[in-house]
Amino acid sequence: MTRKVRTRIAPSPTGFLHLGTARTALYSWAFARHHGGEFVLRIEDTDVARSTQASVDQILASMHWLGLDYDEGPIYQMQRLDRYREVVDRMIAEGRAYRCYTTPEELDAMREAQKARGEKTHYDGRWRPEPGKVLPMPPAGLEPVIRFSNPRDGIVTWDDLCKGPISISNREIDDLIIMRADGVPTYNFAVVVDDWDMNISHVFRGDEHVNNTPWQINIFNALGAPLPLFGHVPVILGDDGQKLSKRRGAVSVTAYEESGFLPEAMLNYLARLGWSHGDEELFTREQLVSWFDGSHLSKSPAQWDAAKLNWVNAHYLKTIDEGRLAALVATHLKRSNINASKDEVARLVPLFKDRCSTTVELADWVAMYFADVQPKEADIAAHVTDVVKPALNTLREKLAVAEWTKASISAAIRETIAAHGLKMPQLAHAVRVKVCGRAQTPSIDAVLELFPRELILARLHGP
Ligand code: GLU
Repeated sequence: MTRKVRTRIAPSPTGFLHLGTARTALYSWAFARHHGGEFVLRIEDTDVARSTQASVDQILASMHWLGLDYDEGPIYQMQRLDRYREVVDRMIAEGRAYRCYTTPEELDAMREAQKARGEKTHYDGRWRPEPGKVLPMPPAGLEPVIRFSNPRDGIVTWDDLCKGPISISNREIDDLIIMRADGVPTYNFAVVVDDWDMNISHVFRGDEHVNNTPWQINIFNALGAPLPLFGHVPVILGDDGQKLSKRRGAVSVTAYEESGFLPEAMLNYLARLGWSHGDEELFTREQLVSWFDGSHLSKSPAQWDAAKLNWVNAHYLKTIDEGRLAALVATHLKRSNINASKDEVARLVPLFKDRCSTTVELADWVAMYFADVQPKEADIAAHVTDVVKPALNTLREKLAVAEWTKASISAAIRETIAAHGLKMPQLAHAVRVKVCGRAQTPSIDAVLELFPRELILARLHGP
């Protein structure tokens, strides 16, 4: 009988939800939705010293923003300590785990001695019960850690959904600590108990966990729990070929939201980064769900490509509902202390959206309608020349009385250049610099029409 598909994403709130985890969340979500299964959000907060509420909040906000809805959760590991203790006690009783009283100093000495002998460092099993072995007396007053009795022999094998078959000998891995002295489980143990209790059928996660999987498989087996299938998704490399990291550049999902990217663009771009469906580059959330069956995941690292993300975002800027776009732009304007209503912005968005990659760029265009512009000295010097200045006055006089339509504004401009013997770009550039604060804009009559007349007259005025 095949298992019901249940996937999860299990971020640790020790930092913000970054792009790598967001992509894994996306794959887990799409896979569950594709199979009509369920998707669980679990917060792995057992690193108490480094976990923060701010990170939890950011993770939840990012999931919401990306539209990755979950059927269960958030489930917090720190609220499940009793359950981990119960499982540990059972494992100790069954001889699958044991108490270890080795002190940090003893561990250091053990490692030094191993290094001196040219061995790979490992826990030497001194507290592991064995038939016929007499264990030392537990030292008084020292709380033990709990170690897993990893099988001594045999090979751990699994067929990874991304990487294909992987095998590792049990001789390569030692007896892992599964519970600290304070009763908090370690990652490799809590993850197994949770994936078991939550009936997870498929685990997608980052490549960096591939070395943990043999331990986890052994613990699943020790518990008599059904194994999920594992897919270890390759890392994302930054523009410089190094692994994307918090220290280098914007890697949190929220940072992209703030920089003016749309969730559908992020979803599309992240999904394609490490997975493909033929030559498709642009696809909807629904298409992703209908195509994402866990195949065609890339085996090699993905290369972050900021230009491509811009291109994808530009595509969605052109296609999304303009009312929604206007609201997003109004939010960005507000961050620059420009109060403009969604409706005011909505009038302006169609003229500029095709030339923008982000809503921040779009807000930058639209801002000139609501806040003073500061033309650059160099633009003034280049375009607002003594030859053009008299024409600016003429144009101002004509615009003061023109009917406020694109056609009459255009006529006023044409009459002005004819009267002064100028070429169109000479006047148009000067008007742009004075009114818009920049020398390049869409067609000048279309740009001007959207301004209140008085504002243009004021900006054209003066030296
Ligand atoms: N808390 C782990 C992480 O954030 C989860 C890994 C897993 O999915 O098993 O990397």
